[in-house]
Amino acid sequence: MRLLFIGPPGAGKGTQAARVADRLGIPHISTGEMFRHHVEQGTELGRQVKAIMESGAYVPDEITVEMLRQRLEESDAVRGFILDGFPRTAPQVAALDQLIGEDGLHMVVLFEVDEDELTDRLMSRGRLDDSEETIRHRFKVYEEQTAPLISLYESRDIVVRVDGHGPLEDVTNRVLRAVTA
Ligand code: AMP
Repeated sequence: MRLLFIGPPGAGKGTQAARVADRLGIPHISTGEMFRHHVEQGTELGRQVKAIMESGAYVPDEITVEMLRQRLEESDAVRGFILDGFPRTAPQVAALDQLIGEDGLHMVVLFEVDEDELTDRLMSRGRLDDSEETIRHRFKVYEEQTAPLISLYESRDIVVRVDGHGPLEDVTNRVLRAVTA
């Protein structure tokens, strides 16, 4: 199964992607985690993206697409995968279409969470790129660049909406029900 998890910052898609991937026995592919790993390891790529991530902006498409392309070539991705945080821009959608075909994704899971709750969650998470100013910027970038992708995938009839409120396990079960229905 090839899934994409999408939603605003703080919607819990990363946490849920890890849990659902585990239950389904497929890899969880998070471009954000891959970038954070590069920053922690101090690689050349990490040095390129550190300041961008800290500002809440998106890493340039060419860099992101190339990293994702290499990840999809790894053997575990043949079984399927959950993409978490990619694609986030229209050019990234086009790049993914090229890589796996326009009908390559089975489902896009959209996490819906109230705005107040999103801010609360981000403020209590304590990640390096979670300062107040960065958070505000990340919402703006999400609205401008990523939210429009939802209607694009809706036109392909593959979007399922999942209520992201409540206990982790409840949300996980809702996602599992939605994707195995
Ligand atoms: P995330 O963990 O998905 O919230 O990603 C953290 C940060 O990594 C984002 O705020 C961006 O700076 C960067 N990033 C992750 N995925 C992408 C992507 N698909 N395109 C551009 N930047 C990304």
